[in-house]
Amino acid sequence: MKIAIIGGVAGGASAAARTRRLDEKAEITIYEKGEYVSFANCGLPYHIGGVIPKRESLLVMTPRRFRERFNVNVETMTEVVAIDRKAKKIKVKNMASGETSEKEYDKLILSPGSLPFKPPIPGADDSDVMTLWTMPDMDRIKAVVDSGIKSAVVIGGGFIGVEVAENLAFRGIDVELVEMLPNILPQFDKEMATPLHREMERNGVKLHLDNGVTEIARTRHEGDTHEKGGMALKLKNGDSIETDLVIMAVGVRPNVQLAKDAGLDIGHTGAIKVDSHMRTNDPDVYAVGDAIEVENRAIGGEARIPLAGPANKQGRIAADNICGLDNEYKGSLGTSICKVFELSAASVGANERTLKDRGIEYLKTYLHPANHATYYPGADHLNVKVLFTKEGKILGAQIVGGDGADKRIDVLATAMRLDVDIRKLAELELSYAPPFGSAKDPVNFVGFVAENILSGKTTPVSPDEIPHDAFLLDIREKAEVEAGMIPNATHIPMGEIRSRLDELPKKREIIVYCKVGIRGYNVERILKANGFKARNMTGGISTWNLFFPPDEKNAETPIKAAKTAVPMENKKTEDGKLEELDASGMCCPGPIVAVKEKLAAMSPGATLRVKATDGGFPKDIAPWCTATGNDLLSMETKKGATTALIRKGAPLQVDARNPDPVSKSTTIVLFSNDLDKSMAAFIIATGFASLGHKVSIFFTFWGLNVLRKENPPSVSKDFLSAMFGMMMPRGAKKLALSKMHMMGMGTAMMKHVMNSKNVDSLPKLIEQAQQIGIDFIACEMAMNVMGITKEELIDGVEIAGVANFAALSEKSGTTLFV
Ligand code: FAD
Repeated sequence: MKIAIIGGVAGGASAAARTRRLDEKAEITIYEKGEYVSFANCGLPYHIGGVIPKRESLLVMTPRRFRERFNVNVETMTEVVAIDRKAKKIKVKNMASGETSEKEYDKLILSPGSLPFKPPIPGADDSDVMTLWTMPDMDRIKAVVDSGIKSAVVIGGGFIGVEVAENLAFRGIDVELVEMLPNILPQFDKEMATPLHREMERNGVKLHLDNGVTEIARTRHEGDTHEKGGMALKLKNGDSIETDLVIMAVGVRPNVQLAKDAGLDIGHTGAIKVDSHMRTNDPDVYAVGDAIEVENRAIGGEARIPLAGPANKQGRIAADNICGLDNEYKGSLGTSICKVFELSAASVGANERTLKDRGIEYLKTYLHPANHATYYPGADHLNVKVLFTKEGKILGAQIVGGDGADKRIDVLATAMRLDVDIRKLAELELSYAPPFGSAKDPVNFVGFVAENILSGKTTPVSPDEIPHDAFLLDIREKAEVEAGMIPNATHIPMGEIRSRLDELPKKREIIVYCKVGIRGYNVERILKANGFKARNMTGGISTWNLFFPPDEKNAETPIKAAKTAVPMENKKTEDGKLEELDASGMCCPGPIVAVKEKLAAMSPGATLRVKATDGGFPKDIAPWCTATGNDLLSMETKKGATTALIRKGAPLQVDARNPDPVSKSTTIVLFSNDLDKSMAAFIIATGFASLGHKVSIFFTFWGLNVLRKENPPSVSKDFLSAMFGMMMPRGAKKLALSKMHMMGMGTAMMKHVMNSKNVDSLPKLIEQAQQIGIDFIACEMAMNVMGITKEELIDGVEIAGVANFAALSEKSGTTLFV
């Protein structure tokens, strides 16, 4: 049997080797138009960066070795230019001599791969706009890099673009990456790419996201070397970039011209159509790899999945079927992983964007587990997102984080391939020792959480789904919230929840959050058991920070400035005092709490050196120091252990929970009990609250009457207080207009007009104000003077002294007296 294979790299080489193992007699020939067969194209970026120093390491197999080991004939520099299916012949062209000849075949395997795409923008076809696809491409780029260029622009943030950018940065080049989408690595949802963007920027790669190149022009003169002149790029947003090197990595197209010309069926994705046996519409012609379309195993339909794993397996399956076995390819999940400096970005199946586009219903959960026992040095956290159906089918997963992302995505991919119900992940027995994992692996946790969701024990909500009128409840410890809270959230630590239930609204939906979602789930259960409408923010504030990344610039400034000022190894600090704290092995919030306690016992100006292994510590400590008025002098993380040098500052006067206290806080003093003035006060308060302000109303003297219950419980009072009580209006319904009351007629008319014009009544305005989180504070002194007791006031009112009002007012951007 004569077997001809077109393309000698991933799919083609795999098909050739398998065919030989199954059929010793077959005449196997690989036709490869390039100079090399079976080279490691996945390793090309790393040779440019010097990570793989030897070029030969990329040549996995040579034509000679193929011949010696497998008795496979390899014709390199030979392009197949036509297929005559009727005659079962192919026309081949010698790339060196240009000569053509015909070769017969019994079975033909196409593995021609794909071609890098160059978009139709002016200048894109300039020979100096490079792509990375083959060994010669790599040699050319490397030669330019070796010539000593200073800058490069990578167009496209797919995995090849990201790998190229990383490796150019390793070479000390200033790299900018332009991506049309809002995030790099399009297999990820935008929020999951947040840590990746941070990591690229942390390593000096400037990102231009949601942008595109509209024009490329050569500014280099003929004969100039790359360092001398350059290329000029114009971006969609009007920016322009001058650079020494441009690499285009905007995607690939299946290489199908030969198949098309031969009359083979092309699917609607633009790739060659094959059946599950890798057969085209011609039973003697098989096709594999990047050039074909496959079944999307996660969500059905056809997909193009240009990855090396599928290409290799398909090559093997084509060989099996040609040699008389019956082997089927059962679709691709698109399992992939990419290194982004210190982070790994792994994904499988569909992302949320695709599910939305395809109208597929899904549930989602976020987890932020540690990659291994947190008490073992070097623990880092993983950001995990899993999408699944209400029946328990896993649709896709994304993991971004440190070591161990690969292991978890592979377990999830295995589960998806074997159609394992997501709840069954809880049962998996996975390897564990402290340096590698935890007794309950992150994958087990995915199973636990999914079971809780699917059985209705928890109703998760993700930050992009929070209703605008929800009550946000932060249940983390005090020291944790000092590093920042979600705007307008109320803080009640988990340990105080049961005793402070009366501070929570019964009618509004309460969204509980903690650091990663575990404590939040416990509080959600407590609240539900007490009749509240509660949901847990999936993944806690760690997920929130993926959607709404905190501005780290402020936090980073002192770190950078101090790096030179106070080197880590320098034991002597300004005042000569250096305290030590070893928080290794503690997990969040342990290290921050320990730092807070330690600093509390130190005097201002003294310095603390703290060591922590918790993965969240380096991210939390900078904003915590900023918020608490301490100086983070320097910080470095080596092999998972972070050492931070903190100088204790003077006590901070502002509320650390509110990072922008002056402009985002409003206080209203309600002194009057006139209906019109009270209504104006509540309408203004609601307006400020809806703008995101933290609003407090301080009720004093006559204003206290607004808060009085219509039918209060009987309370014992002295004679004067009882008299006062009888003479004053009892509650919002009893208030009168400040003007034109006219024995009650004017007030009644006003209420009628308000009703007919759909203006809310005062009781309704009060209820609304409470629902949107406006704080009601009753003046203790005025209550004493007027003989009003707490029991007579509506629920949810805090009683406080004037000092409390003064503190609120001091922080407020606006203070009104009504
Ligand atoms: P290829 O391996 O591309 O082989 C096709 C061959 O066919 C080519 O050598 C071509 O010269 C030859 N050919 C085409 N037409 C003809 C013709 N008419 N006559 C003769 N020969 C012809 N995938 C991953 O899974 N993980 C990675 O980390 C990864 N990294 C990558 C990094 C880079 C820089 C690149 C370029 C690719 C990477 N890939 C990665 C993708 C992976 O390499 C491809 O999916 C895989 O090689 C596809 O295999 P294939 O056999 O279909 O095509």
